[in-house]
Amino acid sequence: MEKVREEVIERRPKGNWATATALLVVGAAAGIWAGLSYRSMLEPEPIYPSPGLTAQVLLSDYFPPLKETAGDTEVFVFHGEEPGANVLIIGGVHANEPAGFLAAVVLVENLRVRAGKVVVIPRANASAFTCNDPQEGNPQRFFIETPGGERVFRLGSRLTNPVHQWPDPTLFETPAGQIVSGPEARNLNRAFPGRADGYLTERIAYGIMELIRQEGIHIGIDLHESSPEYPVINAIVFHERSAEIAALAQMDLQFEGLDLRLEASPPNLRGLSHREWGDAEGIHALLLETPNPVQGRLKGRSSAELVVHGKDKYYLKAEALGRLFIPYTEEGIHISTRVARQLAGIQAILISLEEMEPDMAVNLEGLPHWMAVQERGVGAFLRN
Ligand SMILES: [Zn+2]
Repeated sequence: MEKVREEVIERRPKGNWATATALLVVGAAAGIWAGLSYRSMLEPEPIYPSPGLTAQVLLSDYFPPLKETAGDTEVFVFHGEEPGANVLIIGGVHANEPAGFLAAVVLVENLRVRAGKVVVIPRANASAFTCNDPQEGNPQRFFIETPGGERVFRLGSRLTNPVHQWPDPTLFETPAGQIVSGPEARNLNRAFPGRADGYLTERIAYGIMELIRQEGIHIGIDLHESSPEYPVINAIVFHERSAEIAALAQMDLQFEGLDLRLEASPPNLRGLSHREWGDAEGIHALLLETPNPVQGRLKGRSSAELVVHGKDKYYLKAEALGRLFIPYTEEGIHISTRVARQLAGIQAILISLEEMEPDMAVNLEGLPHWMAVQERGVGAFLRN
């Protein structure tokens, strides 16, 4: 017995103060690196507004309890001199759907509004931009080439950062009264019309409703993406009050060679922007969806390249098996193509609004044409 113990002691790796110190230093360095990497996600990348900007405020200016919380976010206002429609455009309700966010950034960096008023929120759920979706292996950032150099943007999560809202309930009753699974309490697109004293995500939704009321918004457009195997994709989702506007916009887009399908907002699916904005405030409410392979379940390895180029060999296989709801080729679906579609959708919706209601003009000077964005790349329309 004694002999065996001696042998075990003999076989132990030999450590000393030097190896202990070295391991401690390596551990501390890894900890500091991880901490700095995490902290850097809390810093939003700068957005450079066009000279046409008339006011830059915060969501907390409409709903003060959001001040100094992770739910506060930048609001960009472009007020035309001539009367017209008051428009709200939001991206980043889901921070893992980058073309919606980036289309909102392109608006902020290019817009001049002659008639009407356009209010843009690029990071509607700012907290969701500070974390990733777990177990996806997604990159924290993606990169867009511009004439003046590379711009870096965060790829966030579908849900509010659990550091900012925790714990999740077992089941969550949305402010509109629907029971959904607990983590959906952190999904901004289930939280409308919000609760003034609810979870952070519900308070963000409430802040956006306050903005709609205080800015006298007539029409709201929410910019999203979805996975290529999901049926609601390349689509204009519309509240029934906005059915004609959506149909007219779809026809206009078809004339230009862009195919977006129409999806009616189901009346019993509650808490979504296009449902609750229309029901609670009576405004026109629409949502745009473009295809985003990085959020799909069929994707292979996730990377910053996949975010931008949308090329994935497993989606090619899925296309060959007829499992996708969009055409998918070896070219992938570049983020420029997706942003172009978002911008085309916005333009077509606003033209349709004016056709239906002539006093609801919105003159968006500076909005790049979708074909130019597709051909030259979205980076050509981002400021340096
Ligand atoms: Zn979404």
